This record gives sequence, C-alpha cells and structure tokens, in this order.
Amino acid sequence: MIDVSRRQALTIAAGAAAALGTSRAVTFFPSAAAEDAAAKGFHSFKVGDITVTTVFDGIWEKPHDPGFIKNASVEETKAALRAVGLADDKVTIPFTVTFVSIGGKTIMFDAGTGGQLSPLAGKLASNMAAAGIDRSAISTIIVTHFHPDHIFGLMEKETNAQVYPNAEIVVPAAEMKFWNDAGVFAKLPEAFHGLAKRIQATLPAWKNVRQIDGEADVVSGIRAIPAYGHTAGHTVYAIGSGAEQLMLLADTTNIPALFARHPGWHAVFDADAASAEANRRKLFDRVVADRAIMTGYHYGLPGAGRMEKDGDGYAFVPVS
Ligand SMILES: [Zn+2]
Repeated sequence: MIDVSRRQALTIAAGAAAALGTSRAVTFFPSAAAEDAAAKGFHSFKVGDITVTTVFDGIWEKPHDPGFIKNASVEETKAALRAVGLADDKVTIPFTVTFVSIGGKTIMFDAGTGGQLSPLAGKLASNMAAAGIDRSAISTIIVTHFHPDHIFGLMEKETNAQVYPNAEIVVPAAEMKFWNDAGVFAKLPEAFHGLAKRIQATLPAWKNVRQIDGEADVVSGIRAIPAYGHTAGHTVYAIGSGAEQLMLLADTTNIPALFARHPGWHAVFDADAASAEANRRKLFDRVVADRAIMTGYHYGLPGAGRMEKDGDGYAFVPVS
C-alpha cells in the first residue's frame, strides 16, 4: 500500500529527476523495502543461498562545512541533496552493518560506531537483537578499514576491551601496516592521531586478529578485493559468485545522493582522493556489468541494491 507521504515523495522525485535530466525518478527514494526496514531497524534478503541482513546503527547529522567535499561547494552539495528530495540543512550520514549467513556461519562486516561517535548512532546491538542475530554466535568479523565508524564497535568505550572476544577478526594487512607504523603520525592530520593511538593500543595485541593480504579468499565464498584510496588499506569483499553475487563496497562512496551521483566529488574522508575515485568508478562499473547486488555502509536502509549508469554518474536502485 502506498501512503500519502510516499506518494508525495515520488511526486517530488519525478520533478527532481526531470530537472536533472535523469531517467530514473525513483532511484534515490524510499522503496517499500526501505520503509519497512526503517520501521524495523534491519532488512533481510537472499543472494543465491546466502542470507544477507543489513542492520542500522544510526546516523550522524553532519553540519555543512566547506572542507567536506574538496571539489564541490556547500551550495552545490545542498543542491545535490535537494535534487533527490533530501533535506539540505545538513548532511545526514547513516551507518549500516552487513551480516551474511554462509556455510552455517554468521559473519559481520565492520562493527558499527559502538555508540561512541554520534548521539544518534549506537543502535546496532538492539537492532541485531530485533533481527534475531545472536551476538555470541558471530564467528567472524571482517573489517573493511579502520575509520572510527567501522571499528569502534569492536572496543568498549572506557577500557578498549573487546566487545567480540570469541569472534575471529579479519583485517586488511595494508590497513594494519599503515595505522601501526611508527611514522603514521607524520602522515596524518592531527585530528586522526587519537584514532591511530587507539588502533595501536588494541588490534596488534588482540590474539583473535587475522590479517588478509591483498586479493585473497577470506573464507570459502568470500574474497577480499583491495580498493585502496579511501584509506591506505580499504578493502571490499565479493561474496558468492557469478550472477548470485553480493559486493560489499563499504566506503567506496559515502552517501549515494552525493558521491554515486557525482563519482568525481572528493570527500574529505578519502585519504587518497584520486585512487578512491578510480576504484569507485572501477567497482561501480563492475557491479553494473555483473548486475550484482551491492551494499554500502553509508547508504541507509535497506543498505543494498544495484547500481545503474546514470549520465556521468551512477544511480542507486535499492533492493525491494
Ligand atoms: Zn565510513
């Protein structure tokens, strides 16, 4: 059933699409799955034999800041948000963690904010419970990169104690090397020094951490694909194979309204913007060609869908 608010959203969408000259009026707009998932806090679907569940951790309401996108102004950013029917008074960045059940194991990709970054995030544990995911049954946590919104959920706020001591934690070797190098502080802006110190105080000492080097199988059915640029070791994962493939694209882009539509825009979070953009275009072209389902950490619920070419950029079509 389509309620009034959805009907209004679609009307606005059609107008925005006409103004942009795009062909897909509904791509950025709430699907029935998105509305259902938003109410529940999670969304489950199948990719072949694999059960995928995306679980919502919350949002960060980021005030506008001229430094956020290096090659787009605040006005251009606001216009891009408005063009897809989003509020333009701030940038709302969601956090969504992907789980897969594969080979009888429950695997989690990244670990959420741990409620340590934004007053509006930290809902992962309660939404996992709502989704029927037993925290103690998680066998493996596969990490894409070491930004706080992806790893703080591994560590308790005050003590840094492990939140999942019984799970194996798989991390990209290149990410481990970068953040734990003694020279990292000279390479990083001061705002990242606290993060580097926290990483150095935790992950290298944890006995349940396994490093995966470059493109390699992590477990049967899950392959790591280096996609460096967002960070020194940012890694995405291909799950399953062939037509029944899930691509877990993590921070290949931040929110799609800005960075899938404008893949050439460089978010301040991308450490090496040129490499990040090259990988973004390469990976999006791959999922378009393969018709693969993808998930994005900052895509909001349902957090998964397909990409389509849309003019100079890409349009995200959520799963339904
Ligand atoms: Zn992120």
